[in-house]
Amino acid sequence: MDEQTARGVVVGLACGDALGRPVEGWSADRIRRRHGTVDAMLGDGAHGLPAGAVTDDTEMARCLARSLTERDGWDPDDAADRFVAWFRDDPTGIGGMTYRVLSRVAAGEDWERAARDVWERSPEGRNAGNGSLMRCAPVGIAFADDPPRLVDVSMASSRLTHWDPRCTHACAALNLAIAAAAAGDPPVETARDHLLEHTTDPPDTVLGALSDAADADRDPGTLPVSGYVVDTLEAGLGHALAADSFREAVVSAVNNGGDADTVGAVAGAVAGARFGVDEIPAAWLDALEGSETLSRLAVGLTAVDG
Ligand SMILES: [Mg+2]
Repeated sequence: MDEQTARGVVVGLACGDALGRPVEGWSADRIRRRHGTVDAMLGDGAHGLPAGAVTDDTEMARCLARSLTERDGWDPDDAADRFVAWFRDDPTGIGGMTYRVLSRVAAGEDWERAARDVWERSPEGRNAGNGSLMRCAPVGIAFADDPPRLVDVSMASSRLTHWDPRCTHACAALNLAIAAAAAGDPPVETARDHLLEHTTDPPDTVLGALSDAADADRDPGTLPVSGYVVDTLEAGLGHALAADSFREAVVSAVNNGGDADTVGAVAGAVAGARFGVDEIPAAWLDALEGSETLSRLAVGLTAVDG
């Protein structure tokens, strides 16, 4: 993946997170009444942070990007260590399953055992959130040229906290779509083909989300907004693929409300792969917390060996 595109993916993810953060959990109606359209970095709102501040989506993606670049490849123990260090340092907006797993790993338990056990004990409805999907894009850059490896590491990166097959396959699907978009290939069709070729039993829900996201006649305002991983995969891809610009993709995702920062982050990563960092509005880049570091990490990800 070229550097301009890789920077688009990582910085795009962070822009979606930061634009959506003040209205996280709001309905589309409440956003419209309060702000009209959110198309600038706002302060306060949910989490009460300054304009351009990011949350768990970007912070966990940064952990993965640092691990992949500093270890020059996939090292799950190192990635888990970085998640735990982040967890101990006042994590912003941490999700339920991530909290339940990392609190056990921080107390000394092996991550694999903790993650699997938390998943097995979680009832349907609380077992397949979007917490691994929102952060997985750095893997899609590092292994963009090697689809089987991209699939394996995307799924492994999910299992650090999210063991459910819908989560692991959604991460693989998203990163395949990001790599395809960056290469100028059709994102959804390419992702579906590789998912069928390189995984066993991809869940029908994940394949269905891919088809629904690619429906060109769909009004993006009808895309789902929940924190369920299948919904976020469909919505993130749907907003990013329907838009004619990076800006349109992220504004469309965020103003739909619901899990606005995370749908914004997923849409931003895919739109960043389509349009590149040069198409991200300058005012957003200026306001974004830590954009230089994210840019540098993105360039480092393009040079990861294995
Ligand atoms: Mg968040």
